[in-house]
Amino acid sequence: MHSKTKEFYDQFVLKNYASPPIAIVRGEGTRAWDDEGREYLDFSTGVAVNALGHCHPVWVKAVQEQVAQLGHCSNLYASPLQGDLAKRLCQLAGPGKIFFCNSGAEATETLVKLSRLHGKKVSGQENQRFQVVTARGSFHGRTFGGLSATGQEKTQAGFHPILPGFSHVKFNDLVLFSEAITENTSAVLIEPIQGEGGVHAATVDFLCGLRELCTNRGVLLLLDEVQCGVGRTGTFFAHEESGIIPDGIAMAKGLGGGFPIGAVWIHEQFAELFQPGSHGCTFGGNPMACAASLAVLDIIKSENLLQNVRDLSVWYKRELQALKTRFPSLVDGVRGQGFLIGLVMKREVGPLVAELRDSGLLTVPAAGDVLRLLPPLNVSTEDLQTSLQILSSVFHNNENQVQ
Ligand code: PLP
Repeated sequence: MHSKTKEFYDQFVLKNYASPPIAIVRGEGTRAWDDEGREYLDFSTGVAVNALGHCHPVWVKAVQEQVAQLGHCSNLYASPLQGDLAKRLCQLAGPGKIFFCNSGAEATETLVKLSRLHGKKVSGQENQRFQVVTARGSFHGRTFGGLSATGQEKTQAGFHPILPGFSHVKFNDLVLFSEAITENTSAVLIEPIQGEGGVHAATVDFLCGLRELCTNRGVLLLLDEVQCGVGRTGTFFAHEESGIIPDGIAMAKGLGGGFPIGAVWIHEQFAELFQPGSHGCTFGGNPMACAASLAVLDIIKSENLLQNVRDLSVWYKRELQALKTRFPSLVDGVRGQGFLIGLVMKREVGPLVAELRDSGLLTVPAAGDVLRLLPPLNVSTEDLQTSLQILSSVFHNNENQVQ
């Protein structure tokens, strides 16, 4: 990393993140380059943000044209693009309405606020029915609502008292979720695939069971698809495989393909809970963000990317599974769906992430022992093969060191 970048980071950038090892300055497709000209195969994709890889030409053109026409107008006025995008997202999610924001945390925060409004409506008063049941190991963002919903103490450490009203139950355990729902519960909030928690997928039975449970008990079923949504699993939403219709969905990350945008879909039955003045977001649905997001949706469709994810991920996961046979002392297994993949290792993955990066492959650690592989939705077989070669070579070196 150039010394000036490092110096400025050390001196002026808040130390809430681990010190970054390299500076990325350019990207094209599946490749990214650092400030010393080194090339990387980028399977970190900005932590599942760059769904189309870097600088897809159609996406770039859409953003460039929009910034030259209108950069921002606020939600005091209508933006045609916001209407278009809301319609497209409702076509994908079901009959309902869309709220726009900038990030995943704001999106999950909105779901938490929805649960409060629902609880107030059904109990007839505030402060009565506001409990939200979420899963252990979940991650829902860094705002107070998000971190209180999060089922990981490390996210909450230092920030107590967290918001009251959240309970955390073992993921995929319908009996425990059922027991956790009381007369004071307003919603259940889960990720169909836990990303930060180590790539754990909800089973179809669990999702279907939760849907039935929530309907029977008058509780909202809210899904956080911030990481697993927008095509990453081979369907637009990760929950689609189960056939359920949730009451709310949080989206962000891949939705803008690199332009910050978050969105919440709320089922039409509950959309009226928000009334003018009850919620808002200055930048939410900004024309540039909507243009970027519409381009993402167009490209996913025109390039048949959901099919690409489905076709290639099955083969890729089989090849990754073969690494377990070849490197049994290192690799424990493969988890996840589509291109939200967790390679479970038998050791802490920090050093491996660094070695893979030095060998030209960018990956993301999760939950201590999981290597997250998040190729863009339009990745090619050749790039997947290259990643396998780099993984094999780094694992080979590590195995030799162990012996
Ligand atoms: N929800 C999930 C499932 C996430 O994975 C994340 C981020 O990793 C968030 C919420 C928070 O999103 P953001 O960092 O955009 O606020």
